[in-house]
Amino acid sequence: MKVIHTEQIIENIKEMCMEANYYLSEDMKDVLCEAAEKEESPLGCQILNQLKENLDIAGENQIPICQDTGMAVVFASVGQDVRIEGGVLSDAINEGVRQGYTEGYLRKSVVKDPFIRENTKDNTPAVIHYDIVPGDTLTLTLAPKGFGSENMSRIFMLKPADGMEGAKEAILSAVKEAGPNACPPVVVGVGIGGTFEKAALMAKQALTRKAGEHSEIPYVKEMEEELLEKINGLGIGPAGLGGTVTALAVNINTYPTHIAGLPVAVNMCCHVNRHVTRTL
Ligand code: SF4
Repeated sequence: MKVIHTEQIIENIKEMCMEANYYLSEDMKDVLCEAAEKEESPLGCQILNQLKENLDIAGENQIPICQDTGMAVVFASVGQDVRIEGGVLSDAINEGVRQGYTEGYLRKSVVKDPFIRENTKDNTPAVIHYDIVPGDTLTLTLAPKGFGSENMSRIFMLKPADGMEGAKEAILSAVKEAGPNACPPVVVGVGIGGTFEKAALMAKQALTRKAGEHSEIPYVKEMEEELLEKINGLGIGPAGLGGTVTALAVNINTYPTHIAGLPVAVNMCCHVNRHVTRTL
């Protein structure tokens, strides 16, 4: 049984909040650089180069890549041979978010109640998803989520007869509808199967997969490639001002589902697709 103290969790989450907001992961930087090479529209190309420059400035000066520093989403994979000492795991994660957003001068974007809308002033609470896994480690993935793109996410409860073509149409329609509002070029996270909430969760988790890495399931990989090509053919382009690069990646996760259904969730993410993972 491995003992992990909550102080260690707080410190790591604090650092991860700042790291995720100041630096984009290497995989995201790579696809953005490739996009700038590939973009055929001169204006689109100019925008992509500005986004690259913005990344360099943010990293060098340790300032946020975007003014929307997101709501903190945390995926915690808890080894069943781990014991948390010093307090409750959720409290430690939230304390880390509190310290990270305060000490890192990151915008506090969370309101206490969806209608009263009083700012919590420290960006808590985080949205935390737990998974119990074998082993004696605690793996934390922090993904601050901007809401320009979150607001353009969609879920479709399709019929089994809609099949793969119906799923592709639904995904394309979500991206089309999002247009410039999701701050393109986007990363499209997709969850297919499970139940209503499982599909949405898979779509969110798909965004944390390395951009450019495909599903291990051959037909899903083909779907990802086909959809990326079709989305880039929509002409929305960088910042929605037209061009050949609308999406940087399409990541699809699947799960068994009920005989009567075919849930398809599309979680849109902008080019600031932030995610940092650490294992304790
Ligand atoms: S959606 Fe992304 S790029 Fe747009 S404002 Fe929010 S974090 Fe920034």
